[in-house]
Amino acid sequence: MIIEVFLTHTDGGAQLATMIIEGDRAKAASGKTYDVRNPATGEVVDEVPAGGAEDVDKAAQAAAKAFTTWSKLPANKRADILHKASQHMLGKVEHIAPILTKEQGKTLLESRIEAQRFGENIAWFADLADKIHGEHVRLPDLTTYGLVVRKPIGVCGAIVPWNFPLTLAANKVAPAIAAGNTVVLKPASTTPLSTLACIEALLEGGLPEGVVNVVLGQATGDAIVAHPLIRKIALTGSTPTGKKVMARAAENLKKITLELGGSDPCIVLDDADLEGAARAISVGRFFNCGQACLAVKRLYVQEGIYAALLEKLVARASKLKPGNGLDKDSRMGPMHTETQRAEVEAQVKDAVDRGAKVVYGGGRPQGSEYEKGWFIEPTILENVPDGARMWTEEVFGPALPVRRIKDLDEGLRLANDSQYGLGSSIWTTNMAAAHRAVNELEAGYTWVNALQIAHDELPFGGTKQSGFGKEHGVEAFLQYTEEKSVVYGGL
Ligand code: NAD
Repeated sequence: MIIEVFLTHTDGGAQLATMIIEGDRAKAASGKTYDVRNPATGEVVDEVPAGGAEDVDKAAQAAAKAFTTWSKLPANKRADILHKASQHMLGKVEHIAPILTKEQGKTLLESRIEAQRFGENIAWFADLADKIHGEHVRLPDLTTYGLVVRKPIGVCGAIVPWNFPLTLAANKVAPAIAAGNTVVLKPASTTPLSTLACIEALLEGGLPEGVVNVVLGQATGDAIVAHPLIRKIALTGSTPTGKKVMARAAENLKKITLELGGSDPCIVLDDADLEGAARAISVGRFFNCGQACLAVKRLYVQEGIYAALLEKLVARASKLKPGNGLDKDSRMGPMHTETQRAEVEAQVKDAVDRGAKVVYGGGRPQGSEYEKGWFIEPTILENVPDGARMWTEEVFGPALPVRRIKDLDEGLRLANDSQYGLGSSIWTTNMAAAHRAVNELEAGYTWVNALQIAHDELPFGGTKQSGFGKEHGVEAFLQYTEEKSVVYGGL
């Protein structure tokens, strides 16, 4: 199967990956293909079908057909199938992780964590499959009674970006199929291979054909949103893409979940655990080479500990050796594309042109091993003036603006001065300050003295221009069901 193809692929030449549409491992109807390249070396990792509307139609038909049987399976049987499939997939983490590293750039450690999370997420929602509850409602006429039942929606579209191809796919696929829906899944064009490997592993582990179908290529996103058989769209992507998808989905009044961009603020007060804060900020900003939606993207530090915290952050950044993700000494992979790197460099340049000071990094690492990839240094800046792009835009790379604040009032005012509202965090040992931040930070998530991890158990999603709808938690599961009212009469 595809996984084995990747693993025996040692000659450096490209293989042709395929889409997964029901029983078929399909090429694009157009016959067109494109190359997936390694961001660390520029080498071709694989050649992939460039699908289009015709392929999405086949996948939607396959998913609709599979829905008729999958949605009618006893829920405990569905849970059982998903547990077995996820166990099988989890046994392949060591095979899948290098595929993810080669196509995305992230370090092998990061890829292992992500592949593991894919399987665990399928299992977490499998546990909910047989726990859907309805309600009995008394009606005034005692010869009748009412029920509210929850049903799966039908075929769901899942559209995923390139930064966390596997976890963000699982966030959609897992609750959808556990609730009895079927899926047409579109990975980002540049990161299809590890997703294919995960879905192949689920199929090998017993997931019935047609329950999850994978289409590839740029054009398939719009075709999914437009397809009449697809009833719900879950998109993770940028805010501009979210707006387009919402407008397009409105044409057929589809249900939508939009997980969009963010510019998460972090406030650190004088009484904070400095070591804990430095670790969380460093992981929060530099994990995945800074290409994370939930990431510390704006840092506001109270003046009493400003210098000490900055020193700790610089010390941590200096240990993040950039390098090819497959190299065990690398602590930070390259950026995913040349365009992404150019964007972050332009945001840093804008700050510097306006008078900001680079405290660490600010350029590209030097050396022959960096010449062919999209490497960048972890970067920390201070004195970034108001209005600079780093404050007003999402910085989707490893560059952090740090600002001195007088007190919590100033921190909260600056933190909320953003179009985004995804994550947020505060470090303080003062309960009242923490409580105020929890109440006043405009975001879908607030971490208090904790690492920015999106837990399976807690609903995750943004407010403001970071989108709406939830992934993770029972809330996400319920969003893949719809309520139906029933009246039984003539009793
Ligand atoms: P993107 O918006 O360019 O693409 C995301 C996906 O949408 C891709 O699969 C793409 O092909 C598809 N797409 C693009 N235009 C489309 C259209 N008109 N119709 C249908 N599909 C379309 O985003 P990206 O650059 O791949 O990812 C980075 C962005 O994703 C960042 O803004 C980041 O913050 C955001 N993100 C958000 C979350 C979250 O959970 N809120 C998580 C990760 C990333």
